[in-house]
Amino acid sequence: MSESEARPRAFSSREDLDFIRAIVAADLERGTHGGRVVTRFPPEPNGYLHIGHASSVCLNFGIAQETGGLCHLRFDDTNPETEDIHFVEAIIDDVKWLGFDWGDHLYFASDYFERMYLFAEHLISEGKAYVESLDDEEIRQYRGTVTEPGRPSPYRDRSIEENLDLFRRMRAGDFPDGAHVLRAKLDLASPNMRMRDPVLYRIRHARHYRTGDTWCIYPLYDFAHPIEDAIESVTHSICTLEFENNRPVYDWIVENLPRGDSPPAIPPDSRPRQYEFARRNLEHTVTSKRKLLQLVEQGYVSGWDDPRMTTIAGLRRRGVTPESIRAYAELVGVGKMENRTDIGKLEFAVRDDLNQRAPRVLCVLRPLRVVLTNYPEGQVEALDAPYFPHDIPIEGSRKLPFSRILYIDRDDFMEDPPASFRRLAPGREVRLRYGYVIRCHEVVRDDAGEIVELRCTYDEETRGGATPDGRKIRGTIHWVDAAQSIACQVRLYDRLFTVSEPNDAEGDFKDYLNPESLVSVEGARIEPSVLRDPAETRYQFERLGFFWRDPMDSREDALVFNRIVTLRDARVGAAAQATADRAPAAPATATSRKRGEPKARAEDRKTSGPDAAAPVEPPRSAALQARRQRYVADLGVGDTEAEIITREQDSADFFEAGLTGEAPPRAVANWVVHELPRDMGDRELQDLPFDAPRFARVVSLVDGGVISGSAGREVLTEMIASGGDPDEIVERLGLRQISDTATLENLVAGVVEQNPAKAAEYRNGRSGLLGFFVGQVMRRTEGRANPEIVKRLLESHLEGDA
Ligand code: ATP
Ligand code: MG
Repeated sequence: MSESEARPRAFSSREDLDFIRAIVAADLERGTHGGRVVTRFPPEPNGYLHIGHASSVCLNFGIAQETGGLCHLRFDDTNPETEDIHFVEAIIDDVKWLGFDWGDHLYFASDYFERMYLFAEHLISEGKAYVESLDDEEIRQYRGTVTEPGRPSPYRDRSIEENLDLFRRMRAGDFPDGAHVLRAKLDLASPNMRMRDPVLYRIRHARHYRTGDTWCIYPLYDFAHPIEDAIESVTHSICTLEFENNRPVYDWIVENLPRGDSPPAIPPDSRPRQYEFARRNLEHTVTSKRKLLQLVEQGYVSGWDDPRMTTIAGLRRRGVTPESIRAYAELVGVGKMENRTDIGKLEFAVRDDLNQRAPRVLCVLRPLRVVLTNYPEGQVEALDAPYFPHDIPIEGSRKLPFSRILYIDRDDFMEDPPASFRRLAPGREVRLRYGYVIRCHEVVRDDAGEIVELRCTYDEETRGGATPDGRKIRGTIHWVDAAQSIACQVRLYDRLFTVSEPNDAEGDFKDYLNPESLVSVEGARIEPSVLRDPAETRYQFERLGFFWRDPMDSREDALVFNRIVTLRDARVGAAAQATADRAPAAPATATSRKRGEPKARAEDRKTSGPDAAAPVEPPRSAALQARRQRYVADLGVGDTEAEIITREQDSADFFEAGLTGEAPPRAVANWVVHELPRDMGDRELQDLPFDAPRFARVVSLVDGGVISGSAGREVLTEMIASGGDPDEIVERLGLRQISDTATLENLVAGVVEQNPAKAAEYRNGRSGLLGFFVGQVMRRTEGRANPEIVKRLLESHLEGDA
């Protein structure tokens, strides 16, 4: 888009604007910045972009798109030691792949080094900056603490001439690293520590990936960032909250830059303003380039694009679509509150998108041979199988080969099943998807006693799955033909960390890596039709999840599939299973699941996939619709959760049965939507070995602080596997939280004692270290300490000792 086409306009919808968009809208209305909107996404090329960055990308580029403004892609490359051209290329790829375009507005901070240098000289000659010769430690001491003002450095009143001379010699390379820095002369008594003469330049004899050895002094963020924005006439400079205290410095720099009509001066009407929003973080993952880098460099993952990484490159290789990431960013939104999103939200966005576009195919993960003893030897049929269920408006089908020898998944057979088991067992019938009803007569074992084959018969009358005699078949399973299916490897990915907040365990987040985050299944079998599909096709393997070919490792003759996401949260699970279990002859009731996110902007919907015209609201009965509204309005349930729960009668009933008064409805809803599905596999709610009140009991244990959230998940996993009583499981597994103050006091004291240096730093104002201390106590109690109490005790302990 060229500048002349850029016609800023108000957002098309004035409702529902997040607070940043509301600011932009108000500026447009008032004509601030001459009615221009220019944002920028400013990554530092020292790593790959991650899912947190995606929020910032979508916000900055989104605002520009929606208002007809501009968004620049600018590399904030002022730190030569960690930056690399490889990261620049990767970031460019990722932003493009996410679907955004910066036209010719690609910039590099390093291109402004000369101008920045001139501006620094300008500040010096106005008496607003000075060369400091104290070392880092001394600077810190002189700066004071939150409770004491700073003291002026002995070098603060150097003459302008001396400052200019020293600064020029710094540039010329006359001094070693650390000998001097340039500082702004601001306010040593300011309660805002950032205003106490921030450092603007430092000496670093290091080669820069773009400017080579041209420079041995480099500007710091506080100086560089406002200049970059001002040079580019950015209007809204959006960053994350940790820069809130830097804002006065930002404004001061912008105010004090030389103005004029031609460079190096800053354009007179360029007045960028900084706005902060809270970082978007994701549970069960780390969103810090530094930590992601450790995982890569120390070989915990196969690279930045390992499909378990929540980098954009990792998600992309896993098979996640850019549409889902944009929808996810929309779903978590923009706010001022620290935001940690359950990974379920990302998975929800991914499923929701793939559901609309992924053809359904059959794949058997762990094959068990089935011989149909009454099927004619040598006969092969081609069964017609549609790619999509009825509620997805895409046509198309393929033929499935069917013959005497088939494979089914081992999990779909049980020799001695409970009454609720709906799949194959000795003497029982099951329907083969798109095929026939079969009955198992005999189990064949090898010498080691392992089941190697089932001998079954098929019912010739049931082709396509219908039962002309009207008998009820309870289950439908997937299968492939033994002779014509293709062997493949299937990689099942799970979350990379076993705890929801690996970041809290500062320094040791790697202890919490999930050893089962990748399970590679060799010898799976997939239906042959996939060989004809384009390599980038995303599939739903029926009953198993969404998959695609690994773009690096899959070959025509050695297929490798990645699981993008498991099939469903419980609601969708019930819906899909209902569809699978329904005989095709039966009329299709619309269990239609369209785009679920409640607040999708019209703009985004247009680019969200093949069903652009589909209604946003899934059709549902008036009764369910009413329940949904009641859940939100009367019970305080989240929009998204209410939406999902009322997609199906079953789940709405389950939810309501869980409203026993023990746990708040909102919490019950969150657990129904985000926690319960995790271990349910393809089971239905009514197959669970526990009822809704028991489930609600787990939620209330967490809600009441008796156990932690992750302990709650453990209890649920246990209950799904083998039923049982939540209170009993908590005791048996020793999951009860430690809330006893005396015990925790001791632990807290011990941890503080063993980390005197960190305790001192904390008292000097590094309040962020509290997380470290909490993490230490949590580790010592294997996650069982009550974090709220620990936090309180730590705060009073650390401060009391000061
Ligand atoms: P990291 O801590 O992962 O290195 P960063 O902030 O140092 O992140 P930058 O390359 O400086 O990484 O980030 C580019 C932009 O993305 C910045 O504007 C930053 O504020 C934003 N950003 C980074 N992480 C997040 C996040 N988790 N949520 C939202 N925005 C983020
Ligand atoms: Mg940064």
